[in-house]
Parts: sequence; structure tokens; C-alpha cells
Amino acid sequence: MRKRECSCEGTGNIYIKIDGMEYVDQCYCVFLERKRSDIGELFQNKNLLNYKCETNKQKENMKKIKLYINKSLYVYGEVAKGKTHLLAGIYEELWLKEKRVYFYTESQLIDRIRSEKIKDKELFYIFDTEWDTFIIDDFGKKVMADWQISNLFDFIDELYKREKQVVISSNYTIETLEEKYGIAIARRIDQKCEHLEV
Ligand SMILES: [Zn+2]
Repeated sequence: MRKRECSCEGTGNIYIKIDGMEYVDQCYCVFLERKRSDIGELFQNKNLLNYKCETNKQKENMKKIKLYINKSLYVYGEVAKGKTHLLAGIYEELWLKEKRVYFYTESQLIDRIRSEKIKDKELFYIFDTEWDTFIIDDFGKKVMADWQISNLFDFIDELYKREKQVVISSNYTIETLEEKYGIAIARRIDQKCEHLEV
């Protein structure tokens, strides 16, 4: 388990000993920099510890998130309900658990899928060797062309088949997502994720 504190004295590296062998690891301050670049300054210091649970629903949700921290999750609800804060918190918890996590907005994800396909590499090889968990913020926002929806389905389908963890936030219920992106994507997400309404 990594620590939620900077102890690198400015080097960015910390050294850990496992069975007498010394390994170099990333310091918390380096992760916070990455978090800022991924989600923005507003969410850099947002985590599950400083998410305020004021309603019973929020308390219930926090319990579920802790229970489902290693599972796939579909977090949905209206704008300004704190979804991105929750995702920022989950991102940090998973990093603390030494998982290799990527955080993308939907647009960034679409671009990455396209660039991997353009480079003619096997699309998911890179994803598979580089990461454990994929976090996608603001899913369902774009108006997409058919080829983009098809790319997105390929990606979601691979996540499903490879049993990779994915954490998605969206303003939409699965039913609305189905209307926007079609039944194939909506069904895969529905099959894969625990649902959490905020
Ligand atoms: Zn540090």
C-alpha cells in the first residue's frame, strides 16, 4: 500500500524494500501532479476522505464505493452531484492500492482509441500491458459518428472480455445511454458494472 504523503524530498522517487531488495516507486506528490493534469486543479486534492456525506444517500454511496473499490462501477446522476469528486477519490484509492490506473474523459478516450487504431497496432495490447483500471469521466456526452460508436464498443467489449476494471461516470441512466449510443454499449456496461446513483 502506498502512502498519502510526500516523503521524496523533491526527487519524486521513494524507495521501498521488499524481501531485502530495494525498489523505486512513485511518490504521492508525483501522483498528485498527474491527477492535476488528468482532472484539473479543482480536483487535484479531492479524495474520498474530503468528500462530504451530508445525505443518507451519500453515506450509502460511500459505503458502496468502499465495498466495490476493486469492481467496475457506473456512477450516474445529474450535473453537479459530485461525480467527478468521487471519481477523483476512487482514482487516488486505486493508486494507493498500487494499481495502474488511467483517467480519461470520454473525448480523450475516443482520441486515444483512434490514434492506436491509426498506428495500426493491435488496439488493446498496449492497454493490456500498461494498466489495470480505466476511469472514464463524463461518459455519454458526445454526439458520435457511427464509426466512433463502433470503436467505443470494441473497447468496452474488450474490457468486458478481459475482465478489466472500469469506473465510469455519466449524467445519464443506462436507458438514456442506450438511446444515445445503442443497445450494444449500454448492455455491456450494464453487465459489467455495479450501478451507483448519486
Ligand atoms: Zn514527493
